[in-house]
Amino acid sequence: MKIVLGYLTLFLVVTLATVIDPATAADIAGAYPGTLILNVDLKDAPRKVFHVHEVIPVSPGPLTLYYPKWIPGEHSPSGPLQNVSGLIFTADGKSVSWRRDLVDMYAIHLTVPQGAHTLDATFDFLSSTSGGRFGGSVSATPVIVDLEWNQVLLYSAGYASKAISIDASVKLPVNWQYATALDPHSGRGGEIHFQPVTLNNLVDSPLIAGEYFRQVDLDPGARVPVYLDMVADGPEDLAISAQQVQHYRNLVQQEYRMFGAYHYASYHFLFTLSDNTGHFGLEHHQSSDDRIFANYFTNPDATLVGSGLLPHEYTHSWNGKFRRPYDLWTPDFNSVPEKDDLLWVYEGLTEYWGEVMTARSGLWTKEDYRQALALTAASMDHMPGRTWRPLQDTADEASILYYVPGAWHNWRRSAGDFYAEGTLMWLDVDTKIRALSHGRRSLNDFAREFFGINNGSYVTVTYDFDDIVAALNKVQPYDWAEFLKKILDTKQYHAPLNGITRGGWKLVYTDQPSSYEKASEKVRKQLYAMYSIGLQVNTGDKNKGEIQDVLWDGPAYKAGLAPGMTIIAVNGRVFTPALFREAIRQAKGSTAPIQILAKNLDYYTTYAVDYHGGLMYPHLERVASQADYLDQIITPLR
Ligand SMILES: [Zn+2]
Repeated sequence: MKIVLGYLTLFLVVTLATVIDPATAADIAGAYPGTLILNVDLKDAPRKVFHVHEVIPVSPGPLTLYYPKWIPGEHSPSGPLQNVSGLIFTADGKSVSWRRDLVDMYAIHLTVPQGAHTLDATFDFLSSTSGGRFGGSVSATPVIVDLEWNQVLLYSAGYASKAISIDASVKLPVNWQYATALDPHSGRGGEIHFQPVTLNNLVDSPLIAGEYFRQVDLDPGARVPVYLDMVADGPEDLAISAQQVQHYRNLVQQEYRMFGAYHYASYHFLFTLSDNTGHFGLEHHQSSDDRIFANYFTNPDATLVGSGLLPHEYTHSWNGKFRRPYDLWTPDFNSVPEKDDLLWVYEGLTEYWGEVMTARSGLWTKEDYRQALALTAASMDHMPGRTWRPLQDTADEASILYYVPGAWHNWRRSAGDFYAEGTLMWLDVDTKIRALSHGRRSLNDFAREFFGINNGSYVTVTYDFDDIVAALNKVQPYDWAEFLKKILDTKQYHAPLNGITRGGWKLVYTDQPSSYEKASEKVRKQLYAMYSIGLQVNTGDKNKGEIQDVLWDGPAYKAGLAPGMTIIAVNGRVFTPALFREAIRQAKGSTAPIQILAKNLDYYTTYAVDYHGGLMYPHLERVASQADYLDQIITPLR
């Protein structure tokens, strides 16, 4: 998953994982008594209502049905149960009563009447109208629908998700086109039927559809195709340039060159370009659900800031889907909680490689990559929260930390940290391998060793901490357990920047923002002054001047400012981003504090911020005496 401001004939192959928790395997070993029929009517998508009808094979007697709770890739018990409405069960045309479990509200208990072998379930999924995170954010507009199958089904408890066969179909609004990794077998009467698949594969194969649709072949002539499938707010948003297409084609080849294998029968980037849906990426084996701003292809700032999304989600097909932490693999979506302690590999390494691939593919220039890395390094290097919460704990508590607000991020820390600090960590590993081997080996060798196995297979292979250490040792002998644990467990204010320094660069600050930072401030509608006065401020028309975050114990903090307050005036003049920056600039060389008038709910107060260091924007500066490993890392593989 990525936080944005991540079958054809083989499709019938049952997904088997190599590790099954023995404690739960016995409970769910049963053979499924038939095929579950699932019809999802999306004709009401423009008003964000999805109608569901299921015919569930059953036996007479007590039955428990689950609504999927632990959503793969979301790493959280985030199934949007609150959106299930109008739930009705019938058997042989007669109503069947039900009751929710009082402890696990995702479980529904009922008794199947004697003589009944199927149970009909109907409900309406009230798709999000505003807010929400990831799959629970807005997923339908007058011209787009992004369907995650886990949101529109109930399934019988007691069976592994790989054992449940589902015959799924959808109805779409007239003239909408669609894309999915599922294989259709008919499209009669506006209803599209897919080849039966396991519940596992269905949930792993979302569908996008829309009035404005475009498909681009990213690997023309390949036996295993890769497609970029796009839906958008309007036809103008689909204007991908020839050069952008080439960059995405490069991305496919660069991933193949690094991993030396692939793990899908075909791959579909399911790309939603919309200002009306949520923005994030969610990974799958054979596709990714990627949602970004409408003008991503056509606005250079949006392109620059958003380019990392698809490389991140694509890398997940190898790292996260094919190879997965043993405790993030579960037999179904409900009976066993996911554990997030290895997300610094699943997400951290994916974030590192995703950005490296963004540069290797040409989506970013090398300078773009370095500017983005400087921002990541600076953000992680101003982390008072690391004095009490080490990197490991941000992963351990991830299922909660994905849902925290931005306020006090630097003191609380969030799930975003094992992405950002993970980038620094794996750069550290990569440059360490290069240094120890005198440039003969790198993390690319680890990619082949660990992810380049079982070519063509998308049967998940699980791993634990010791497997990572063993694979690193095979590439380059070293005490990797100690090396990794030190980064994971250290409590200190400053970030581990060894990867940058060993890579031949150093983090510096100047009074001028990089072009990447300028673009990021524009796209995110933010004023980012965390490394000077210690403030992050909203600059959008809505909530202009609202303080989004304050650096704990920084200058603005010491003056009494806090997130949630709104800046009204700076040094007596109405707040504008330009005046605010000018006030910081002017305070350098003066002893007078910066006067900030802020509104805290119904009260106005002037805060005197005693800061005289000037504007501070992060950059990477070359250290000529060191080998430029960073340049080697982001050079395309041949
Ligand atoms: Zn991810």
